[in-house]
Amino acid sequence: MSAFSRRALLGAASAGFAASLLPGLSARAAAPFQNTLPPAWHRFRIGEFEATIVSDGTLPLGKPEPAFPASPPEEIRALLTGNFLDPGAATLEQNALILNTGKQLILFDTGMGESMGAASKMFGPTTGRLLANMRAAGIQPEQIDLVILTHAHCDHCWALVDAEGKRNFPNAQVAISETDLKFWTDSGNKKGPEFMTSFIDGATKNLGAYRDRMIMVKDGQPVVPGIVALSTPGHTFGHMCYAITSGGTTVVNTGDLAHHQILLLRKPLWEFSFDSDPKLSAQSRARMLDRLAKDEHLILSYHFPWPGLGHVKREGEGYGWYPAPTNVTAL
Ligand SMILES: [Zn+2]
Repeated sequence: MSAFSRRALLGAASAGFAASLLPGLSARAAAPFQNTLPPAWHRFRIGEFEATIVSDGTLPLGKPEPAFPASPPEEIRALLTGNFLDPGAATLEQNALILNTGKQLILFDTGMGESMGAASKMFGPTTGRLLANMRAAGIQPEQIDLVILTHAHCDHCWALVDAEGKRNFPNAQVAISETDLKFWTDSGNKKGPEFMTSFIDGATKNLGAYRDRMIMVKDGQPVVPGIVALSTPGHTFGHMCYAITSGGTTVVNTGDLAHHQILLLRKPLWEFSFDSDPKLSAQSRARMLDRLAKDEHLILSYHFPWPGLGHVKREGEGYGWYPAPTNVTAL
């Protein structure tokens, strides 16, 4: 073979090599998107207690204006865009706390669940993930000793039972204010906004399955040692926050005291469409936020950005939200 033809052959081979290499490279770059997320749970300590936050999934509200009917739309838009949030859609989280006190395993609120068929998906397909996330965090529903409810709305108590009405937490008692228990299981309250009928049907089905094992919580009183109920009426008439104290540390589970970390902290007196008494709700929010800011307690907020832990600080006529670091190696 002549030198010329050998070069020609090598040239042809290297051209062929390059040609075969390029598709290979592009194939590696075209790895499929994963399109999955890890289970959503976060674990930390509150004094001697072990706390785990599990998500029930995001709860999209859609256009924010109808949720804040008494607020100027241009102010809503300015607050959202000014904080790098989508002005066309408000998205809430659902951050449920599981507390191991060393004596009891306690779940605060249950998420939307699947007990009410199509109504369970009234906020779309992203809700109803609490049980799966709980199991992923190493906690079985049968281990829960007590479910403490902030209030009896769908996104807080509709996973007490499954679609057949069977208890999801077969060994648990349920603690709730007597006011909310009575109001949301009374068919006479099916009036006013359209959602009232399904909210009452859902609460009746879910709470009814635990009627022989209920604990009535009272303002200022411990539910169990280390957990004190704080009456904050308005969102519902029996809405409760819970102060959790262990080893000199206090975390306040604020439930639905405020639904949005910008709109209802910057404007605590704004009214929210799902409030039973919007003006009373605003008063409770203003009063409790003032206390939480002064005491500088860590807060767990059910609907704030995952995992809902942070502090509030007085700023102007409202409050700023300061998310707590969620370290991945420290416990
Ligand atoms: Zn809620």
